[in-house]
Amino acid sequence: MNFDLDLFVIGAGSGGVRAARMAAGFGARVAVAESRYLGGTCVNVGCVPKKMLVYGASYADDFAQAASYGWSVGEPGFDWTTLRENKNREIARLNGIYAQLLTQAGARVIEGHARLLDAHTVEVAGERLRARHVLVATGCTPFKPDIAGAEHAISSDDAFHLPALPRRVIVAGGGYIAVEFASIFRGLGVQVTQLHRGDLFLRGFDGGLRRHLRDQLRIKGLDLRFNSEIARIERRDDGSLLATLVDGGHIETDCVMFATGRRALLDGLGLENTGVQIDERGFIAVDEHYQTAEPSILAIGDVIGRVQLTPVALAEGMAVARRLFRPEQFRAVDYEQIPTAVFSLPNIGTVGLSEEQAREQGRTVRVFESRFKPLKLTLTASSESTYLKLVVDADSDRVLGCHMIGPDAGEVIQGLAVALKAGATKQVFDDTLGIHPTTAEEFVTMRSARPDPA
Ligand code: NDP
Repeated sequence: MNFDLDLFVIGAGSGGVRAARMAAGFGARVAVAESRYLGGTCVNVGCVPKKMLVYGASYADDFAQAASYGWSVGEPGFDWTTLRENKNREIARLNGIYAQLLTQAGARVIEGHARLLDAHTVEVAGERLRARHVLVATGCTPFKPDIAGAEHAISSDDAFHLPALPRRVIVAGGGYIAVEFASIFRGLGVQVTQLHRGDLFLRGFDGGLRRHLRDQLRIKGLDLRFNSEIARIERRDDGSLLATLVDGGHIETDCVMFATGRRALLDGLGLENTGVQIDERGFIAVDEHYQTAEPSILAIGDVIGRVQLTPVALAEGMAVARRLFRPEQFRAVDYEQIPTAVFSLPNIGTVGLSEEQAREQGRTVRVFESRFKPLKLTLTASSESTYLKLVVDADSDRVLGCHMIGPDAGEVIQGLAVALKAGATKQVFDDTLGIHPTTAEEFVTMRSARPDPA
């Protein structure tokens, strides 16, 4: 069969761009189609602009604490438009860099919505191209529950472009996005109510982390309500919103943001013209090599609903490019011990097993915990505290999980992720000298295991 291309990538997000660049670098004939913005969710309405908003929000604490260090800062004022526009400018710059990276690698970038006509043919921007392999990397889009008045609510995509900062906001959801945006809004001075349908947010994270974060966020003035869900939203004549809860309660607010998960972006892709299968959760079903039920079509990243994190999509993109065009360099993605951070204020950083997961696996664990006021805050009136936790396998002495809440937790945990990957034992942690005085040194100086609650 004659093909115009070796690889056609649909979606120029983290995973798609990495696969396209790498494949083109290996000499493959590659085109990548993108209908919205280069860089995908991460660069445009995710990780990168989110972190900028988190930095913006964190100045609130810095101003409050500066006086204890002798600074007179006056009454700080905040201008949302300045932050939003500066952020937009930087994102536009990054979009340009992504376009350059792709073209410099030799990949063709096509602006437009790609649609599969069959297992090898893609139609985009009025052109039909036949590719030996097609990679679907279209990602996900925010999902809003189907309730009356849902059209009055915003998603995280909208939150990045708000025309003005609301005075009051309800954030509904208890995952990464809900927790991060609740902190962002609070830091920027908004009155925040966060509603989560479960007993406690961040399901799947270590219980100690979840409880400690709940307490810290309440200290910062967030109104956290658990076992609580919105039944309907009405817009009132004065422009404000009235949220009616499932239990019959009401909350007046200016903005409702749903952060209730994300669904795979498959609309108009033409998958019905191929043998690609969708799993019961609505994501593209793939095997261990990211191959769909249609042999020429592969899928990676959020659209396969495995682990929705940028570094995972990058790793999957590299695995696909290598397997197709440099099989001798192929390395499978290791889904164990993926470190991650939640950029709440304070941050969570975590790698490895939670205490609950370790116990569910039938392991006997020793747990080391430490809570303390970080040195930087000792001169201030802040009652914020840092939390560190190690979960250790009692039989092998292997450290199974490292968890932290505190400033720059992600930066600390990234280093510890290397130690866990290398199979470090608690003895190795104990033999490692600390860097004094830091928060991170506490990870190598915790000596007494918590008495077993059983
Ligand atoms: P998550 O899947 O993490 O969380 C969804 C939340 O919404 C859960 O708390 C869930 O509750 C709740 N929920 C789901 N459906 C409903 C409903 N119908 N009504 C009320 N609540 C509901 O999704 P996010 O959108 O927060 O994030 C998506 C993914 O993006 C994350 O899983 C993460 O992988 C990635 N991400 C990573 C970030 C980072 O690395 N810092 C930042 C942001 C996102 P329940 O727990 O009960 O199911």
